[in-house]
Amino acid sequence: MELWYTEKQTDNFGITAKIKETLVTEKTEFQDLAIIDTEEFGRMLTLDGMVMTTVKDEFVYHEMVAHPALFTHPNPEHVLVVGGGDGGVIREVMKHPKVKKAVLVDIDGKVITYSKQFLPEIAGELDNPRVEVIVNDGYMHIHDHKNTYDVIMVDSTEPVGPAVELFTKGFYQGIYDALKEEGIFVAQTDNPWFKADLIRTVNRDVREIFPVVRNYIANIPTYPSGLWTFTMGSKKHDPLQVDETQIPELDTKYYSPRLHKAAFVLPKFVEDLVK
Ligand code: SAM
Repeated sequence: MELWYTEKQTDNFGITAKIKETLVTEKTEFQDLAIIDTEEFGRMLTLDGMVMTTVKDEFVYHEMVAHPALFTHPNPEHVLVVGGGDGGVIREVMKHPKVKKAVLVDIDGKVITYSKQFLPEIAGELDNPRVEVIVNDGYMHIHDHKNTYDVIMVDSTEPVGPAVELFTKGFYQGIYDALKEEGIFVAQTDNPWFKADLIRTVNRDVREIFPVVRNYIANIPTYPSGLWTFTMGSKKHDPLQVDETQIPELDTKYYSPRLHKAAFVLPKFVEDLVK
C-alpha cells in the first residue's frame, strides 16, 4: 500500500509526497509535529500539516534567510533568530566568522529536540559554542532585549497559532527597538500567489518603521507556490549598495555574491505588492 503526505496550501490546492517512513509524530504544547521520510525530498519536518523544511531543498531557504542580511551589515557580531528550531538558519549564520554570538529563540523545544535527533545535517550547529538556544516566545524575547542585536532573522511558521503575533506591526516595532543603531532584520514573508495580502500588509507596516526596506525572492519547491519572499528592514545599510566583489564565496548551494543583488529583482506582480 502506498502512503502519501498531502499539504493543503489553500482550501482548493495542495501538494502531495510519497512517504517511505514516518519517523515521529507528536502533538506538542504548541503544534502538531511530524518528521517523515519522503521518496522525493528525503526527511521532512511538518508543523500543523505544513512543510517546514526538507533535507533536499532546505539549503535554499536557510541560505537566503541568513546571507543577504549578514553580508549587508558591516559587523554583524550579535544575531538573533526567532523561530528556526530546525537549526538551518543557525547553521548558515555560523559560516560568518564576524558573528560572535547567535541566539535562537523558538517557542517549541520539541522542534529543537526532534530536529537534532532526525535532521542532524540541518540542526548540527545548534550545539556550537557561539550559539545560545532559548525556548521562549520570540515576541516576549524581543521586547525584553532592547538595543541588543545587530541582525534579527524571523524564521517563523506562517501566521497561524503561536506565530500570528510575529506578523504584526507591534512585533516589527519591537524588532526595531531590539536592534542596535545600524541593525538589520529579515523575515520570511510567504508567497505572492496565495498570501498577497500578507505581503502587502507586512510591507506597509515595515515601511512605516524602517528607513530602508527591500524584498527579495527564492525558489523553494516544497513551499506553497514555490516562489518565496523575504522582507528586509534596515536602519541604515542598503543590501543593494553592497559591493558584491567584496562578498566571499561561502560553502553554499544557492546564495552567491552574484545572486546577492539579483535576488532583489522582483517579478512585476510582486513589485506591485511591495511598492
Ligand atoms: N522555514 C519555515 C517556514 O518558512 O514556515 C519555518 C521553520 S521553523 C521550524 C518555524 C518555527 O517557528 C517553529 O519551530 C515554531 O515553533 C516557531 N515559532 C512559531 N511561533 C513562534 C513564536 N511566537 N516565538 C518563537 N518561535 C515561534
